[in-house]
Amino acid sequence: VKNDRESMMAVSGFAQKYFSQMLLKSDEGRSVGLSYLRARGFRDDIIQKFDLGYSPEARSALTDEAIKNSFKLEFLEKTGLTIVRDDYKADRFRGRVIFPIHSISGKPTAFGGRILKSDAKAAKYLNSPESEIYHKSKILYGIYQAKTEITKKDNCYLVEGYTDVISFHQAGIINVVASSGTALTVDQIRLIARFTPNITIIYDGDPAGIKASLRGIDLVLEQGMNVKVLLLPEGEDPDSFAKRRNAQELQKYISENEGDFIKFKTGLLLKDAEKDPVKRAGLLQDIVKTISVIPDVIVRGEYIKECSALMNVKEQVLYNEIGKLTRKGR
Ligand code: ATP
Ligand code: MN
Ligand code: MN
Ligand code: MN
Repeated sequence: VKNDRESMMAVSGFAQKYFSQMLLKSDEGRSVGLSYLRARGFRDDIIQKFDLGYSPEARSALTDEAIKNSFKLEFLEKTGLTIVRDDYKADRFRGRVIFPIHSISGKPTAFGGRILKSDAKAAKYLNSPESEIYHKSKILYGIYQAKTEITKKDNCYLVEGYTDVISFHQAGIINVVASSGTALTVDQIRLIARFTPNITIIYDGDPAGIKASLRGIDLVLEQGMNVKVLLLPEGEDPDSFAKRRNAQELQKYISENEGDFIKFKTGLLLKDAEKDPVKRAGLLQDIVKTISVIPDVIVRGEYIKECSALMNVKEQVLYNEIGKLTRKGR
């Protein structure tokens, strides 16, 4: 007898194949979904590599097809693919381009669906709900496709969204994953840690992306890992940025502009803080607080050295401040 998990995995696998068939073979999928992806510049090989799909507009296209193929409504509902009410059942994803979310072993366990028209009423992305086979705080989009390359490069790029991951692949950068709309979690960082201790955060160049980067920095450092940050020009995200450059230009921009968190924070804040002692002190406190979360004393010392030089403050002053924080905090 199969347990629930296996049945849910099976129906998810079926749904992935169905969505993919619809995208590549059906008239509706080709004229609406495939043309959308091509208009955004995604190549066919990349569309296949990520098993992208399309969910038809019809109310219960997937549900009907799955039932016809002997899958039980119970598991369609448990995976969130079908929404069941007393008197009707409907597909969760309708008229959307589908991004399957693969487990670390490559099995589709959940889906993200992007709306095609810009319609203020509907959410741009719709995601599968939490289920027995999908815990969104424990998985990263793209980890299955990226894991070997993360080990090989001994580095992992962390981006925000599905299309960011896919565009980087298309540009030849494979060691990349996304937290996909959820705030980065400790479990997600530990998942990366299985392959490398080095993370480079490349979030969107907007206030939300900057805020999320700052939060990500502390989380990564707390895990005893190394973090770099790359700030994209305002209004760009990794997808839009990668699309307008070839692989070589992209790689060059990254290596020339990525920096450790102290450079990121000072670069971000020092502009208006430079001549204002109160703001300068605030920035210093902020950096000191971040350094204090680093578990390794030697690593901490290296950052203190750098901060001291960049901010023109004596190392001893920084050690004193960090001492206050760590005595208080732990
Ligand atoms: P696109 O380029 O297709 O507009 P994006 O990835 O740039 O997508 P963002 O608005 O930057 O979209 O959001 C980053 C990620 O956050 C998305 O890829 C998606 O995983 C998630 N997300 C965005 N909007 C929503 C939403 N309304 N509901 C759930 N998740 C969302
Ligand atoms: Mn954004
Ligand atoms: Mn974005
Ligand atoms: Mn985007």
